Amino acid sequence: MARNSRETDAKAAEEQYIKRMADFLRQGQTLTELACPVCASPLFRLKSGELWCARCEKKVIVVKEETELAKVTSALSLETLEATLLAKIQEIQEKMLHETDVEELQKLGSALSGLLENLERVRKAKRI
Ligand SMILES: [Zn+2]
Repeated sequence: MARNSRETDAKAAEEQYIKRMADFLRQGQTLTELACPVCASPLFRLKSGELWCARCEKKVIVVKEETELAKVTSALSLETLEATLLAKIQEIQEKMLHETDVEELQKLGSALSGLLENLERVRKAKRI
């Protein structure tokens, strides 16, 4: 069945975003409770102290007055993020069920453990 190309693009962009976020977490950058004012994604605090949106790929300056609102938006986007991670985990699990190639299985396995790690961090961030 042919896929809608716009849907495929959005999916690819989402995967890129998840990948960038996973990379940030792996590098030890901190996931904050603040949300990007543009896309409402949770912001990272880089080791340099700057706030960074992994979706917009931009430095973000959060003004104090917006912090409370940002917290609320961020909680919502963490929910979205958690749902996305869960969906991806399920997708990989299903792929693993039908995959017989050992190399492919290893790739899926490491993707899965990365996602589980991120899920754990998102859940921790939600508790802040
Ligand atoms: Zn953003």
